[in-house]
Amino acid sequence: MEYRRLGKSGLKVSVLSFGSWVTFANQLDEKKARECLELAYDAGINFFDAAEAYAKGHAELILGKILGEKKWRRDSFIISSKVFWGGELPTQRGLSRKHIHDACHAALRRLNLDYLDLYFCHRPDAQTPIEETVRAMNTLIEQGKVLYWGTSEWSAQEIMEAYSVARQYHLIPPTMEQPQYNMFVRERVEKEYLRLYEAIGLGTSIWSPLASGVLSGKYAKGVPSESRANLPGYEWLRQKLVDSAEGQANIRKAEQLRTLAHELGASLSQLAIAWCMRLPYVSTTILGASNALQLKENLGALAILPKLSDDVLAAIEQILDNQPDAPTDY
Ligand code: NDP
Repeated sequence: MEYRRLGKSGLKVSVLSFGSWVTFANQLDEKKARECLELAYDAGINFFDAAEAYAKGHAELILGKILGEKKWRRDSFIISSKVFWGGELPTQRGLSRKHIHDACHAALRRLNLDYLDLYFCHRPDAQTPIEETVRAMNTLIEQGKVLYWGTSEWSAQEIMEAYSVARQYHLIPPTMEQPQYNMFVRERVEKEYLRLYEAIGLGTSIWSPLASGVLSGKYAKGVPSESRANLPGYEWLRQKLVDSAEGQANIRKAEQLRTLAHELGASLSQLAIAWCMRLPYVSTTILGASNALQLKENLGALAILPKLSDDVLAAIEQILDNQPDAPTDY
């Protein structure tokens, strides 16, 4: 396993990490989740990603139970949670001081932990002043309940505003962002945030490296019954991944990439994950897996990363045909 600094922080995070969205509580019961967590930890993964919203808190309950049983040293792993969608009531959502306070304590109880290593604002909240959010996060850090805080799917402008407010009042600024990044979704990581990596030392923990499974090639011949796109409650995702023109175009691109992957001795999933890891400012790539076999396969991406030569990357660009323009240098 390779470990990278999370942006300019001193925290060393494994380049591959493991997340619990959709899978924990829905597809992975406690036994199967334990199998995956053991596999991940034994492979050197030190970061497990969660959120208050995942299975309405049940994902964190499962994670907390297993962590408690395994008795892994607390200083050997990194746990995140995210705040935004805690419930239906007006006080149970968003980034007000109250919800951040309540959500952090509820996550700690579910996870059965004294502190969260990373705490993310799951989305920007247009109805809360950024200064209130920055102060609430700073308080949690000063109380020792959170070590680092960051954002997820915030624009570069919103991140800079939070950073500037923190600097103005001598508070702790956000140090990391959790954006979607994969072969089909590139703009934010490769273009919009570019100046932030240098200017504020932003680190990233990127999500959906396989575009929810499309980049495993599993949707080439329709929707397998045991797949995310077939889960009740995820019809919106199926529409986007499979039933839209964009989804179909992506599925065709994935098929072209499969040939290239095989030439490298990799599976399509391994190639797609290694491709995300190629960027130095991707601190960690969060894997998702609905069973241990998938996770095992995806961990194989580590061996494929050194095979991504300039020629291979150029061949991938030719298939993808979606590289964001470089910023204009006048
Ligand atoms: P991926 O894009 O990698 O999708 C994972 C899913 O793809 C699996 O659950 C499985 O679904 C399928 N899959 C994975 N590997 C294989 C394989 N080798 N062969 C076949 N199918 C495979 O990642 P996620 O979308 O799960 O995102 C990863 C993590 O990122 C999440 O768990 C979460 O922690 C975080 N995240 C954060 C978000 C945010 O807003 N901050 C949003 C979304 C995710 P199946 O078997 O059901 O088809």
